[in-house]
Amino acid sequence: MNQKSSGTTNESLFARAQQTTPGGVNSPVRAFRSVGGTPRFITKAQGPYFWDAEDRRYIDYIGSWGPAIVGHAHPKVVRAVQEAAARGLSFGAPTEGEIEMAEEICKLVPSIEQVRLVSSGTEATMSALRLARGATKRDKIVKFEGCYHGHADSLLVKAGSGLLTFGNPTSSGVPEDFVKHTLVLDYNNTQQLEEAFKAAGNDIACVIVEPVAGNMNLVRATPEFLQTMRRLCTEYGAILIFDEVMSGFRVALGGAQSLYDIIPDLTALGKVIGGGLPVAAFGGRADIMKHLAPLGGVYQAGTLSGNPVTVAAGLTTLQIVQEADFYTKLSAQTRKLTDRLCEAAKAADVAFSADTVGGMFGLYFAPSVPTSYAEVMQGNKDKFNVFFHAMLDAGVYLAPSAFEAGFVSAQHDDAVIEATIAAARTAFAAIK
Ligand code: PLP
Repeated sequence: MNQKSSGTTNESLFARAQQTTPGGVNSPVRAFRSVGGTPRFITKAQGPYFWDAEDRRYIDYIGSWGPAIVGHAHPKVVRAVQEAAARGLSFGAPTEGEIEMAEEICKLVPSIEQVRLVSSGTEATMSALRLARGATKRDKIVKFEGCYHGHADSLLVKAGSGLLTFGNPTSSGVPEDFVKHTLVLDYNNTQQLEEAFKAAGNDIACVIVEPVAGNMNLVRATPEFLQTMRRLCTEYGAILIFDEVMSGFRVALGGAQSLYDIIPDLTALGKVIGGGLPVAAFGGRADIMKHLAPLGGVYQAGTLSGNPVTVAAGLTTLQIVQEADFYTKLSAQTRKLTDRLCEAAKAADVAFSADTVGGMFGLYFAPSVPTSYAEVMQGNKDKFNVFFHAMLDAGVYLAPSAFEAGFVSAQHDDAVIEATIAAARTAFAAIK
């Protein structure tokens, strides 16, 4: 059914999709609203590439927005999925595979003593928040401007007018009452964080943060910011939640927490741990996790949680990323990509900078790498859009928004990077 029928174009599919699906897409960023033009409808993917409905091949730098770290349709992952599917698609009763998955996560991310599997990053963060509130018996939560944690009501919030005024919903349909307990602070503003705790610390259930932010383009937290957060949470009895749905198994085998050497109380995971199928998880200190049903009073459940087919994809992916030098090579390739892009931009005299952490990268049409949401917003969106379309025309698929991070897979070899740079030289020239 997903084979292309002759004469099918991206445009005709987009027109057809809009008849039955709002905006023609099942997740808004896919609609190309930010960059303009027609979204590509994908028919197949292999290694570092995917192909659209017109049989055009693209070098893929979104990797399904993170999961495809071992490359698309990795034979080991595909085989594991096929074998699991042949044994039955879903049982609604526990399986040994779920135990193996939990054991693997606890082994690789030592701050996680116990873990619960869910099906999306949104579920993971939403459940972690409820757990933190249930465990502390407090209501207020702290998040940071520019961090995205999925689409749970109390997390779709932007900053209010003052430090201790609680946030405003960023989506219609979210009642103000639902976000009145969410305090939104500036990313990397350590002093503001200290002040917030001084003023309201005893009411704060948890702080949730992307330790390497990937939803306002790529922005690294400073070590001082995360260390202060850890210290304040401990001092005031608040729970520190690292949202590593994107950074987990992406920036390093042990996630951002291993790079910063900081132990959060709870961690949310997703994306890579499903290898392209819907698996996410939240976990952490056993004394907090014991508050979850069926042991404790915090309710959380899922018909397809720990699904045998998705878990097979996830477990196999986690085995592949543990192969020798996986992250060393991935990080080096990602860095090679951005170094070469910076050279090409310089040669074309375009103000441009880039950053990488492990297999994740940020491209900024700005002279220096941003450290906050406000700085990210100062980047030149129009230049990005010209660059994006020139790259797309040359067969390189970047995230269709100036405010998203990019992802490299283990299959992006030197030849793929070279082809990307050749396209970029033309694209930077088009900007001028
Ligand atoms: N948290 C982070 C850091 C994310 O990047 C995302 C998705 O991009 C989510 C949570 C939500 O995950 P999902 O889209 O699987 O619901």
